[in-house]
Amino acid sequence: MTEGYNLLAKGLVERIGIPNSVINHYPLDKKPVIKKQNIPNHRIGIELLTEALINHEYGVIKGVEEIVAVGHRVVHAGEKFSGSILLTDEVMEALKDCTELAPLHNPHNILGIEVCKELMPDIPQIGVFDTAFHQSIPEHAYLYGIPYKYYKKYKIRRYGFHGTSHDYVSKRAAEILNKPVEDLKIITCHLGNGSSITAVKNGISIDTSLGFGTDTGIIMGSRCGDIDAAIVPFLMEKENLSIDEIGKLLYKKSGFLGLSEGLSTDMRDLTEKAAQGDERAKRTISVFTYGIKKYIGAYSAAMGGLDVIVFTAGIGENSIETREESCKGLEFLGVKIDHEKNKIRSKEAIISTDDSKVKVMTIPTNEELMIAKDTLRIVTEN
Ligand code: ADP
Repeated sequence: MTEGYNLLAKGLVERIGIPNSVINHYPLDKKPVIKKQNIPNHRIGIELLTEALINHEYGVIKGVEEIVAVGHRVVHAGEKFSGSILLTDEVMEALKDCTELAPLHNPHNILGIEVCKELMPDIPQIGVFDTAFHQSIPEHAYLYGIPYKYYKKYKIRRYGFHGTSHDYVSKRAAEILNKPVEDLKIITCHLGNGSSITAVKNGISIDTSLGFGTDTGIIMGSRCGDIDAAIVPFLMEKENLSIDEIGKLLYKKSGFLGLSEGLSTDMRDLTEKAAQGDERAKRTISVFTYGIKKYIGAYSAAMGGLDVIVFTAGIGENSIETREESCKGLEFLGVKIDHEKNKIRSKEAIISTDDSKVKVMTIPTNEELMIAKDTLRIVTEN
């Protein structure tokens, strides 16, 4: 999948607009450059990263004219786009219309695109959307049981996220198994700070655990996952909470953090504490892994069978215990984990036994590669 694509550099601009901003530049054949400096806005962040790419000492290209296109990850495209697209003025307007659906993410994504358009006016900018892979989900799986008029009026429906990751790992699993993705029923478990599980049948997403917003499905670092809607008005009344406060409670104070009574949002900490016998960590992990198991069962039923389970992202790629626990009891589906093979981190591997009907795999996600490939395809087509 990486054939024909050579990585020259990776990087990250962190803490834009807040104290202790950092630019991290990792050129492949040179020493990493990590600079702490004031980065008050996205414009300066993008100027700095462009400068790093062309710097005569640690840069990887001679000048911006060598850049053929820029690919942007955009969180929400609503129902408007089911694939990646050239970011024309018309598309930018359509994206602004989706801001209401992803108020935490889309404004930053749009800002980044606008700055790149300004700094590199002649270079095509391509949008790759987190929601696009899930636009194939059928109506019976994307509608919620609320009055239909709210779907029509506000477009309240399941959208799903992490689409680029689910798309990448499902295709990669098929490649590794040397089978056409069109012949496979795959469940992809993207388990990071934010998590989602997707049913990929014959290469397309038919259901996914994140929905209208990004706090449904399994529990996450600080997000609640699936809860009974009745809890919201009940808690608001009992605790005298505003809309903003209940939103924060469910998004920032729940999940691992909330269930463990403040221990951590981080699975590494919880695993360590659980190994020492900490009951708070143990119960949090068991709610998490039970949720994963339940989605695997549900999506096997939704697809009418199961051939492959893929674990990816920080927890999926690294947490031996999470994979082990989530698959325990799924032998009736044909899932048999090989306990020795499962003892790996951050590697592409098959971790099921040779006679397991369902292949269980770990595949490090590579959203950047997926974005680069889509970007190149679109500039070549246009
Ligand atoms: P994000 O959603 O922010 O991209 P990541 O995919 O980086 O998140 O995943 C972060 C999660 O991965 C954290 O909960 C972290 O504890 C977990 N993780 C990373 N390494 C390990 C490990 N060795 N064992 C268990 N969990 C790990």
